[in-house]
Order: sequence, then structure tokens, then C-alpha cells
Amino acid sequence: MTQASFATHEVFNQSPPFCDVDLFAVDRPLAAAVAANGGAAAEQELSEFGRHWGSAAMAERGRIANENTPKLRTFDAKGNRRDEVEFHPAYHELMAHSAHAGVHNSTWSAQGQPAGGAAEVIRAAKFYMAAQVETGHLCPITMTRASVAALAAQPDLLAATMPVIATRAYDPAFAPWWTKRGMTLGMGMTEKQGGTDVRSNMTRAERDGDAYRITGHKWFMSAPMCDAFLVLAQADEGLSCFFMPRFAPDGSVNAIRFQRLKDKLGNRSNASSEVEFAGAHAVRIGDEGKGIRTIIQMVQLTRQDCAIASAGLMRSGLAHALHHARHRSVFQKHLADQPLMQAVLSDMALHVEASIALVMRLCRSFDRAPDQPKEAAYMRLLTPAIKYWVCKNAPGFLYEAMECLGGNGYVEEGILARHYREAPVNAIWEGSGNVMCLDVLRALSREADAALAVLHELTGETLGLPGAGEAIAFIGKSFRRLDSERVARIAVEKLALLAAAAALNGVSPHQAELFAATRLAANHASMYGAVDLANNDVRGLLERALP
Ligand SMILES: Cc1cc2nc3c(=O)[nH]c(=O)nc-3n(C[C@H](O)[C@H](O)[C@H](O)COP(=O)(O)OP(=O)(O)OC[C@H]3O[C@@H](n4cnc5c(N)ncnc54)[C@H](O)[C@@H]3O)c2cc1C
Repeated sequence: MTQASFATHEVFNQSPPFCDVDLFAVDRPLAAAVAANGGAAAEQELSEFGRHWGSAAMAERGRIANENTPKLRTFDAKGNRRDEVEFHPAYHELMAHSAHAGVHNSTWSAQGQPAGGAAEVIRAAKFYMAAQVETGHLCPITMTRASVAALAAQPDLLAATMPVIATRAYDPAFAPWWTKRGMTLGMGMTEKQGGTDVRSNMTRAERDGDAYRITGHKWFMSAPMCDAFLVLAQADEGLSCFFMPRFAPDGSVNAIRFQRLKDKLGNRSNASSEVEFAGAHAVRIGDEGKGIRTIIQMVQLTRQDCAIASAGLMRSGLAHALHHARHRSVFQKHLADQPLMQAVLSDMALHVEASIALVMRLCRSFDRAPDQPKEAAYMRLLTPAIKYWVCKNAPGFLYEAMECLGGNGYVEEGILARHYREAPVNAIWEGSGNVMCLDVLRALSREADAALAVLHELTGETLGLPGAGEAIAFIGKSFRRLDSERVARIAVEKLALLAAAAALNGVSPHQAELFAATRLAANHASMYGAVDLANNDVRGLLERALP
């Protein structure tokens, strides 16, 4: 429908909306990274997903779900407790679309075993595309998928829940999980006095027959309308992991009392609660005293998803920036044809291309870890390094993407303001930056041989790339230092850059050469575009990023 024009002026030289695109087909670096890591056969499935999630209708759902934030309904009109969170229908639709595509479970078989093949890579490509549209709802999606790894420590519970977790239905009803068509799971670890330091958890677990009663609180517990939560609490033998459902086995509402919802910078479509447990029913997962060992299986997977989502956010920033620059003219020339803007956009494209190659390489290690010790070692050492590097880059990257749109980038009608507010959270939750660096050091000291084998592998994969040899020497020297904590950020960043160069070399060697020349052989300047790439390389990078 044509809109009535303004009396005073015509609207022109504004870019059209970037929507109704196939998010897979327009992203050659994604397709190449998926193919290089075993997922080539899924091209059609991913293209269907990309078309659907790239539609204007899905973008609109994302906007509406973030503008109409969840509301906590603590009591009913008569003063009875409700402890329910209401979401806008758009949020439920996003959840249903992700569940329908198996983003919450497709890396598992119906029995809760790793699905094998390239399940991780294919699902990651979907997660990456969905993150370009709406990230808040991905919080319960990622936690549900990851919870299976921890439930594996309690085979009877895994067997009972898998028939409901493994369906592709989303069922938002507030009802006992065993009566539902599909279920979601959350995680409660962080308390007021300590998040990273979960050993300081004060929440108590007391035996009650075969089950437990949990009393205490959690300071952050996201997605409170999940059907069950994996929570940490102190039992007789120490910190233990529990499965706490919203309904007790007799069908009564479990004693999970939400205090309030967090008022967050971003991630607004998702609810994050403060909660008290007043003798809530729960069953144990794994042994008493082994709570961290149990829940870390879940956390490893949510860390992986943080990196995938941050890469997706950056991809979206790049695509919107490039799209705009190709339509917007300044001084009689499209922005995309101005040499200085080309320098910025191509440098950003190189960063995203390396990030997606690295993330997909990591997902391949998750696919193959069950059978291949070398891949398990890669996964162990590099998950924290990659989460650190990819997630911490996202806020700065999105700021630059926003600036490419000028004032239009800064306003809430566009998606970049939302992406920008979302970007820091992936670095903060599931282990903040320093905690990731310490985790790399832990892997190096506890599984030194496996870690050295990974470094050796990376050495072979980056042979001849500019600056790779020096980077390897630097990493080795830094991690051998007695005060390695002091230099852990420099060394972990170098390790991630090296792994990115290696991953990119397996996808597109020329881009790996450019990446190594600008990030390994030289320290990259603090701003994007402060690099000297040849004209051909600039054109090639931009054409690959958005044909
Ligand atoms: C939106 C949102 C949703 C969340 N949802 C959940 C949820 O569903 N479930 C849940 O359990 N938690 C959740 N969290 C909590 C989150 O996981 C924690 O906030 C995070 O792990 C950091 O813990 P903390 O806040 O206690 O900070 P702290 O542990 O106090 O850390 C503060 C800073 O100190 C650094 N630090 C910690 N230890 C060291 C050290 N030894 N050396 C140097 N530096 C160190 C950290 O890197 C961090 O930068 C959520 C958080 C947010 C923001």
C-alpha cells in the first residue's frame, strides 16, 4: 500500500528494511564453515530455516517480544500466590518456532545420547541465525538443550524426562511437566553472596525420603516459567545438583517463590528472576557433593551457545551495516563505495568470517568428542577461550555496526540498538571474562598433555600463516610463567586468535592469511578499519559477506 507522502518533502536515500532474506543463503562464510565442519548435507534444511527466520514476520515478533516485556504475577486478586510470569504471545511464538526446528534438543537422540553426525554444527547454524533475529528467548532454548548433559548423571531421571524433552512441541501451559507435550529447563546457581564462587552457596538440601527439600534463594534464575530447574544446594556431603520441578509429584505447585524480575540492560524479552525456595521438592542428579562436576556438563554447552549467539549478533550487525551502506549515498556516492567505509566494513567482515569459522570448528569438536580424544581435548581447552574472545568482542563490534548506519543505527526502531544492549550479557553470564581465562589455565594444568596436543595441532594447522609461529611461542611462554594468571588475558586472546586463524584456514585459506596478517603478525588497532587491505581483498570480503 502506498503511504501518503509528506507535504514538505519526499523520503529518499534511506535503505529499505533488511528483511525477507534467506539468512543462510546470503551468508557465504556461514555456509562454508558449516560445510567444512561436516554439515554440507543440511544446506536445504538450513536454507528453509534461514528463509523463515529472515522473514519480516519473525523480525516483527522479535521486536514485539522485546517491547512487551514479561510480567511477574506474584499473587492473584485474593492474595493467593501465583508465581507466574506472563509473556506476550510473540515470545511464545518465537519459542514455538525454535522448538519446532529442534534448536532446544536436536543434538540429542530420543534417549538423551549425543545425536552424532554433524548435529552440533547444524543446530549451531540455526542458533546463529535465530540469534540474528531474537536472542532473549534463546535463553530457555539453550538451557533446555544443555540440561540433558547434566541429567545424564541420573539415568532414571533422564529416561523419565527425555520423552517430553525430545518432542519438537512448545507447551507453555503452567502444568506438571509429565503431563505436557514439551518442556523447558532452567538453571539456578548464582546466589547473592557469590555467583562465580558457587562453593559459597548457602541454599540447603535436606533429605525427604527419596527426594529432598530445598530451602534458600537464587539471585539470578532466568526463564522462570521453565518446567524444571537444575539447582545447586548444600547437602550433607556438600554442594550437590538437583532437579527442581515447578510442580511437586502430587501435582501441587512446588514451593518456588519468585520475588521480582530483574530490570535488565538488554535481554528484555527473557525474564530473569530473584527467587526463594521454601522447602521446595527436588530430586538429586548425580552424587551428593559432586554438584559442580554434574552441572559443569550443562555449563560447557551453554558457554558454547554464548559464543554462537555473540557471533550471530555480530553477523547481524555486519549484514545491516553493509546493506545500509549499499543503499545510502553520501556526497554522490554510495557509502559502500567510499574507501574509508570499505575499510571499516571489510575489516568487520573479516572478523565475522573468522568468528563463525572458529565457532563452527568448536561445534565440530562437540560432535566428535564422544569418540575422538583429540576433539575432546580441543573442546575442553578452547570452549572457554572462544567464549572469552567471541563474546567480549561483540559489544564493540555492534557499536561500530551501529555507527555505520549513523543516527538511524541508534534508534530503537532498528534492531541494532537492541543487539547492542544484548551484546554484553553473553560475556557476563555462564562464566565472566576472567573466569574463562582461569578455566583455560585450569585445563592447561590439569590436562596438560591433552592441552599440549591441541597446541601442537594448531601449530600444524597455521603453518606458514603470518605471525602464527610467534603467537605459538608467546602462548607457550606465557602459560609456563609462574604468574600466568597475570598475563592470562593476553595469552588466552592470542590462543583464540590462533585457533580462529586455524579454523579459517580450513574454510578459506586466503581469508586466513588476511586474518593472520592483521591479527597475529600485528596487533589489531582498537578500531575496525584501521588496517591496510588490498582493494581486491576488500571487494572479496564484502561480496562474500553479503552477495
Ligand atoms: C541477565 C542475567 C541472567 C542470569 N541468569 C542466570 C541463571 O539463570 N542462573 C544462574 O545461576 N545465574 C544466572 N546469572 C548470573 C550469572 O551467571 C553471574 O552473574 C555470573 O556468573 C557472574 O557471577 P557474579 O554476578 O556473582 O559475579 P562475581 O562472581 O562476583 O564476579 C565479578 C567479576 O569478578 C571476576 N572474577 C571472579 N573470580 C575471579 C578471580 N578469581 N580472579 C579474577 N577475577 C575474578 C568475574 O570475571 C567478574 O568479572 C544471570 C546473570 C545475568 C546478568
